[in-house]
Amino acid sequence: MFQQPLPQRVRVLILGGGIHGVGILHDMASRGWHDVHLLEKNTLGHGTSSRSTKLIHGGLRYLQRIHDFPLVAEALRERRALMEVAGDLVHPLEFVFPILKSGGASRFKVKIGLSLYDTLAGRHNVGRHHSLSESEALARAPVINPSMFSSYFSFWDCQTDDLALVRRAAYSACQLGAGVSEGHRVASISRADDGWNVEVVKPDGSLATISALYVVNAMGPWANKVLEESGIEPTHKAVNNKGAHLVFPDLGLKSGLFLQSPEDNRIFFVLPWLGKTLVGTTEKLFSGNPDDLAVTDDEIDYLMGHCNRYLKAPLLKSKIEATFAGLRWLAVEEGRSISATSRSHVLGAIASGRGVMLTLYGGKLSTYRALAEEIGDKICAHFGEESRSRTSQASVWFRESGAAASAGDAVKRFEG
Ligand SMILES: Cc1cc2nc3c(=O)[nH]c(=O)nc-3n(C[C@H](O)[C@H](O)[C@H](O)COP(=O)(O)OP(=O)(O)OC[C@H]3O[C@@H](n4cnc5c(N)ncnc54)[C@H](O)[C@@H]3O)c2cc1C
Repeated sequence: MFQQPLPQRVRVLILGGGIHGVGILHDMASRGWHDVHLLEKNTLGHGTSSRSTKLIHGGLRYLQRIHDFPLVAEALRERRALMEVAGDLVHPLEFVFPILKSGGASRFKVKIGLSLYDTLAGRHNVGRHHSLSESEALARAPVINPSMFSSYFSFWDCQTDDLALVRRAAYSACQLGAGVSEGHRVASISRADDGWNVEVVKPDGSLATISALYVVNAMGPWANKVLEESGIEPTHKAVNNKGAHLVFPDLGLKSGLFLQSPEDNRIFFVLPWLGKTLVGTTEKLFSGNPDDLAVTDDEIDYLMGHCNRYLKAPLLKSKIEATFAGLRWLAVEEGRSISATSRSHVLGAIASGRGVMLTLYGGKLSTYRALAEEIGDKICAHFGEESRSRTSQASVWFRESGAAASAGDAVKRFEG
């Protein structure tokens, strides 16, 4: 458990212990700020940050929209930065991109996209794309049915253990003097003469109030709900876009598979992960309670149906070892479909006396470090202090002792 003593008053209070909350905590701590504390109602990473596709990537599919190019370029830079500071948790993974015989993106279009991806990565690239023969593709992904494909490309991205990355950033922040309280739920937020009062339910059910000058609301899908229940109008509307994953026994993949679903213009992944095979993901508007998130039969059928037509031997439902789902929490963009909504982030600021509350909408695991640095700069500017983020330096990263994640974890984590 991360259980530092609860402060009564703190300069910066971070709400929510997903990758963004811990990233901001680590960023502030790396600048030498100790008067920073984080509250998480569950255990760190319990939300979407342990339920992602586990890719640290530029996002090849975002190249479909010119205005997302800067986001892709930034993510490709961050991919390299994270490899350098946490190489044991963020490692290169080769992908096979098969071109469909009928439907989907043409070989020419994919070639242009992959060339652009390499160009945007520039000197931060982890491996250039190239074509593969059928036998080379089958050596990397023996499960695919070659009669469906006309040709193949190889390209590179990175894979991580998302939960381990969350814990690493939090542990590093604590080593640098910041505080974390797991099992502490934010019940309400109210304005105070000097910033904000945050009412917290402690693990034993008793209440505590923390006053803070600067609050960062990084509660993801819960962020607006807590504001509304506190009588504070959120600065932005947001939607939850649900994504489901299935965990199967190891299919013997040596590379990830980047597969197209031409009917709905989506892509999905089949990935080797922690000694298992991960299949994901779906996209569906979710308006229910984020605490009650389960993978539905429809989602299982969608993923298996789309995957099986490309495999020599179909995946069987009876072989599913675990399922998990997360929520993409995105600021609403008028007139855009949910899959076309930008994954870029939005920050909503609300003032109270000398204080500010910043609410985070959107973001990606891959770019969390850069976003935390942007927020850290804002906090420093608010207090008129100059201190620089050091999270791109290995010297502010610390490893927890204990066993590394194993194949069992890929299933155990999502049970119960
Ligand atoms: C299906 C899916 C796949 C994805 N795959 C990728 C990928 O491969 N690569 C990538 O770069 N990005 C990916 N993303 C995006 C990425 O996972 C998210 O952007 C990121 O994890 C969001 O982190 P967060 O910290 O904002 O939110 P969360 O991880 O949801 O954290 C919010 C935290 O707030 C806590 N909280 C809630 N209410 C309270 C309260 N009242 N008091 C205290 N704490 C509270 C929650 O318990 C939770 O831990 C994916 C997203 C989804 C949905």
